[in-house]
Amino acid sequence: MNIELQCCALFIIFTITVMFLREKKLDLMNRKLFFRAICACFACLIFDILSIVLINKSVLSGFNPLITRIVCKIYIMLLVMQGYFGYVYASTSLLPRDRKWAKNVRFISHLIFAVGEILMFVLPIGFEAKGRIVFSYGPSTSVAYLLSAIYILSTITTTIAYRKEMPGRRFVAMLLWQGIWLLAAAIQFAAPQLLLVGFASAFGMVILYIQLENPSEFIDGTTGLFTTNALSAYVRDKYKFGKRFSMFTAKIHYLTNYVDYNMERDAVMRTARALVALGPEPAFRIDDDTFCVVYEDTDRMFERAANIKMQKDNVTDLPANGTYLLIPDSLQMSGPDEFFRFLHTYLESEEEIMVANEDLVRDLREQTRARDMIEEALAEDRVEVFFQPFYNIREKRFNVAEALVRIRRKSGGIVPPVEFIPVAEENGQIIPLGIRIFEKVCIFLSGGKAQKYGLEQVEVNISAAQFDYENPSRFVFDYIEKYGIDPHLINLEITETAAAKNREIMIRNMNRLIDKGISFSLDDFGTGRSNIDYFVNMPVEIIKFDQTFTNGFFENEKTKHVLTGMVDIMHKMNMSVVVEGIETEDQAKAIMDMGVEFIQGYYYSKPVPADDFIAFLKENYQG
Ligand code: C2E
Ligand code: CA
Ligand code: CA
Repeated sequence: MNIELQCCALFIIFTITVMFLREKKLDLMNRKLFFRAICACFACLIFDILSIVLINKSVLSGFNPLITRIVCKIYIMLLVMQGYFGYVYASTSLLPRDRKWAKNVRFISHLIFAVGEILMFVLPIGFEAKGRIVFSYGPSTSVAYLLSAIYILSTITTTIAYRKEMPGRRFVAMLLWQGIWLLAAAIQFAAPQLLLVGFASAFGMVILYIQLENPSEFIDGTTGLFTTNALSAYVRDKYKFGKRFSMFTAKIHYLTNYVDYNMERDAVMRTARALVALGPEPAFRIDDDTFCVVYEDTDRMFERAANIKMQKDNVTDLPANGTYLLIPDSLQMSGPDEFFRFLHTYLESEEEIMVANEDLVRDLREQTRARDMIEEALAEDRVEVFFQPFYNIREKRFNVAEALVRIRRKSGGIVPPVEFIPVAEENGQIIPLGIRIFEKVCIFLSGGKAQKYGLEQVEVNISAAQFDYENPSRFVFDYIEKYGIDPHLINLEITETAAAKNREIMIRNMNRLIDKGISFSLDDFGTGRSNIDYFVNMPVEIIKFDQTFTNGFFENEKTKHVLTGMVDIMHKMNMSVVVEGIETEDQAKAIMDMGVEFIQGYYYSKPVPADDFIAFLKENYQG
């Protein structure tokens, strides 16, 4: 009898089913649908074999033909079901959830399936056996051929239409799977003694299992927990199907404390065990030192999290301190991308325990918006530098200015630096941004116009992060060379924060620049960002008194004495002083008595675009 291939196929499917059932399961829609397809394949093979046996029996020894016809019908109905489940498996994660047309497509495919199954059941069927050629025929079988063809073509079309939304591997596996089906059907059609379709469908399942549903990339080799890939699949799946979940995340701060690899591994294992004990819900290791457990129920997450806190307090299982991030409701975030951004952002925080709430999500959105805005502004060259002149009291002229960055909106408006500098400092964009700002200043100076009207120096703000990386002065040298700028035209403004991190490296970097002729100012003096002990040891030429610091000068006599005394000390150390934020004539006059060198403030000029700045210099230039 012609059933050898089907028996092989049955064995293969049985093996896959056992492996699938034995492995650690993550509740994913695709896996459910895949399992459904396997079951259909399994049932189909059994009835395939049964129908061949019965057809032979009926033809050769007169076995009850009605029973044989029913079994044949069940077989082709299962065959169509298998094609249908295959299509559902392929399309469910691809078709959009909430679009009307996709809902219609889903409805129509259900309908075709239901009607098809009924037709196959009621329409007549016949069977035939000639040696190894065994087949059924008639209207019922024709419906089965037609529907199978429809499902195979729909699956292939959907896969091709959405190829951009899936990894290349998935695309290839899906096409291979359907291609094998088609090929087997074509061969069986041309040579009916070759009953290949059943085997081909089992073979297709093997491809899907190995390529797409294979659990190994979902399991962390060291701890046996689920991996980042698994979490990514889980989170995307839940958002796709609008299901909420809660998550407990722990970033453990132990790795740096262990010098010994075995101790570290032991600590990781203990954490993993402690987290598994928070289950039976799935636990993930999403980074070397970061773990999480997901729950379908918020209350349960809090209850289990309280449990782990208790364990930690008893110092039983959890090895060390960490950052614990609790997300009570995944739907607080708009989708998987925001969810993961949230996770990465707040896991870096210094807090010990954080619970996701509206404020954190709002902050994240603002940061993301600012980040995107900076990125776009850099790409579209909308980063501009404005200039604000300093009044030189002794020489009674404007010979120094500060460069202050702005982002030009597409609409033409201006975004002030408070809205993006702190974000850029936080996320590292300050590096490319700072480089762009410096280049813009160099381009401005290379024109030479401002120098013609008496400009002798431009001060450029430098953030701490810009001096934090290897050879930070490179870009300064590169640009002054590229644009042929006299280094004495450049002064860099730093703050105590910049100086505080690693003072020795900082000073070394500064000296490298000073050797070339660039000078430094200490910005925001008196705000807590810059204080006395910092200027004593820093090679700066200019101290900038912050607006809030000098306010006291106008308010009481005592502060006035302190400030004047301080200016005196700075002069003795060969430093000049700039007073920032002077807005009125009275203030300007009072400051002149203080004996400082420069005044900066709206009273003389707000920061203005390059052209306006040159016009200002020209107007105030006395030859
Ligand atoms: P900052 O370095 O202290 O800059 C002085 C700020 O005071 C400027 O604000 C300026 O417009 C403002 N200002 C000047 N005169 C007056 C005045 O009379 N009254 C008042 N109320 N304010 C006055 P701006 O341009 O908004 O910059 C804010 C901060 O953003 C800067 O403070 C600086 O920390 C940062 N920043 C600006 N440009 C850059 C840059 O190119 N790079 C970096 N890293 N930071 C920058
Ligand atoms: Ca400044
Ligand atoms: Ca300042």
